[in-house]
Amino acid sequence: MYDVIIIGSGVMGMSIARGLSQSFANIAVIDRDEAGKHASYKAGGMLGAQNEFTKNSALFSLATTSQKMFKPLRDSLLEEVGVDIEYLNSGLIKLATNHYDNKKIEQQYQFLRQHFASVERLSPTDVQHMSNGAITSKHTNGIYMPEDNQINANRYTKGLLKSLSNRHIDRIYQTTVTHIESIKDGYRVETRNGAYYTEKLIVTGGAWTGKLLQQYLPCETVIGVKGEALLVEQPDLNLNITMFLTNGCYVIPKLKNRYLIGATSYFNDYSVGVSNSGKSWLKSQALHYIPDLKNGKIINQWSGIRPYCQNEQPIMDEVDKDLFVIAGHYRNGILLSPLIGELMSQWIISGHRPKQLYDFQIRRGERNEM
Ligand SMILES: Cc1cc2nc3c(=O)[nH]c(=O)nc-3n(C[C@H](O)[C@H](O)[C@H](O)COP(=O)(O)OP(=O)(O)OC[C@H]3O[C@@H](n4cnc5c(N)ncnc54)[C@H](O)[C@@H]3O)c2cc1C
Repeated sequence: MYDVIIIGSGVMGMSIARGLSQSFANIAVIDRDEAGKHASYKAGGMLGAQNEFTKNSALFSLATTSQKMFKPLRDSLLEEVGVDIEYLNSGLIKLATNHYDNKKIEQQYQFLRQHFASVERLSPTDVQHMSNGAITSKHTNGIYMPEDNQINANRYTKGLLKSLSNRHIDRIYQTTVTHIESIKDGYRVETRNGAYYTEKLIVTGGAWTGKLLQQYLPCETVIGVKGEALLVEQPDLNLNITMFLTNGCYVIPKLKNRYLIGATSYFNDYSVGVSNSGKSWLKSQALHYIPDLKNGKIINQWSGIRPYCQNEQPIMDEVDKDLFVIAGHYRNGILLSPLIGELMSQWIISGHRPKQLYDFQIRRGERNEM
């Protein structure tokens, strides 16, 4: 019998497992795949606590707190398992892609200025200057968000995985969970390779969480939004700042003259691989604003499925005694993961829901009767 089983080995599951490791001796993380296949490994790595928010909310508050946790986390992962998550002080420029979005950019700027003195409004000339001449924004306005830095999400996820191993947490991979059943004093977790037993169960199944918890969640509570990305190498481009467009396309400067161009968004699409149409949309948007990317070489491309809940409001709730669900962090799962790992560990250890998580319950009327 385990103390805690976590289903899902993405950033959410692994951050929670890491947080619990000092208090529980028997923890297992179960995943149906080998590590490296899903959203957490495929993300851009932007820590967009400014970029992603236009109004005050409980999620905004979590995002700003979590953003600050990355520097110490970089140091602790480096010390514990020797993995550098490549935290870069790149900051971010957000640009409107049409005149209607100019208004939205101005509203977002007004909101952000109430919280961050460092945020600046940019004219097209400012944008060009700040990006060493790389970005041509023409007639659209921009906002500079210096605190929206970034990490390498792939390395971060690998660092967490190594840390689990270092902390003697059981990692049970290539093991699909098919059913969950409440038993006396805990749960029976049925998998394709047999059953496991646990006192407490945490489900962090990303975009597939709804499928796993059909008896607890209304269908379509969590759905998948496929995103595609390209990695381009361009030694002649001198861009050190992330560019994010209001239509969802972005270019993130990475180490070794590499630029990550993301991301498309296809709702309810769980397919794998980069489509020709997605690739050409990403290229055309990026090149329109950064013409020097034209001579770059695409060295990698991939897709991932973001977990989405209605109104972009994730679920973090106890759906039955000692059964927790953590899902739907959509475009901000990397950003939010350190804080969620910490808050969920506090909750499970103390038995009390942290007040920062009150707003993320499934509304009772929406819950399926058992
Ligand atoms: C292209 C792209 C770019 C992104 N960019 C950013 C960004 O810049 N910044 C940011 O903060 N976020 C970004 N995100 C979002 C972020 O990646 C996600 O929010 C986050 O990774 C979700 O983590 P998770 O642990 O909930 O889910 P996942 O990483 O999807 O992990 C869920 C795991 O559950 C497992 N699982 C599911 N069902 C079962 C089952 N039945 N049995 C066993 N295991 C199961 C899956 O195999 C999977 O490994 C991006 C996402 C994509 C796709």
